[in-house]
Formats: sequence, structure tokens, C-alpha cells
Amino acid sequence: MTDNELIELAKTALKNSYSPYSRFKVGAALLCQDGSVFLGCNIENASFGAANCAERTAFFKAISGGKKQFSKIAVVGTGSGEITEFTPPCGICRQVMAEFCDDDFEVVLTDGKTIESFKLSDLLPCSFTKFNIK
Ligand SMILES: [Zn+2]
Repeated sequence: MTDNELIELAKTALKNSYSPYSRFKVGAALLCQDGSVFLGCNIENASFGAANCAERTAFFKAISGGKKQFSKIAVVGTGSGEITEFTPPCGICRQVMAEFCDDDFEVVLTDGKTIESFKLSDLLPCSFTKFNIK
């Protein structure tokens, strides 16, 4: 699956965003190593701390479906309806990625014009992981 195809799936997921408070919609498409794809959107809540990001929605759907090996995730976001900026994952989502993914796991972003891919190890250097707990 190409980065562009994964971005298009993330745009599909974005349409299901529940974001009445921030009005910032986010969609994610997570590619598993077996080729399956799980979609996620941000889901907000009147109790703000109960909100969940699109990336973690996709990860938790995949993990609860028995997947544990991942290749890359595409993430898109917009507050206007048009994608004009990169929407990088927040720190909590990066930490969840670090739990299940290798350093070369890719995060694919777009600003609507270009697509760029980032390695997880570049987005979360010197991370605290399961290898630190022994
Ligand atoms: Zn997040």
C-alpha cells in the first residue's frame, strides 16, 4: 500500500470525527504488517479528559482485533474542512506507538500538497519503553 493510498483512507476516517468542542477533525489509517488496515478518528467528550485521538483509536481497534505488528500510520487533520497543515501525533499517541512499534515504524503526514514520512524514532527519541521495565 502506498503512502498516498493510506492518506486517502485516513481522509475517509476523518469524516467520522466526533469533535464538537475543538472542531478539529482528525483521521488515521494504520497499516498492519499483514496488510490489513484499521481506521480511527478523534472522539471528544464533554469531560475533555475522556477524549481519544484518531491514532489511538486506530491502534486500539487493531490491537483489540488481535494485531500486534504494524508498518505505518497515516494521519490527517483539519479545522476548516481543508487539509493545509501537517497534523503530527501528540505525545500520548507517540508513546502508544512506542509500545507496539519498532523505531522504523513510519508516520505519514500531508499538508494537502505534499506527503512526508517520519520515523517513530525521530518523533520520539530516547523513549521510555517496555525494555526500560525489567
Ligand atoms: Zn494523540
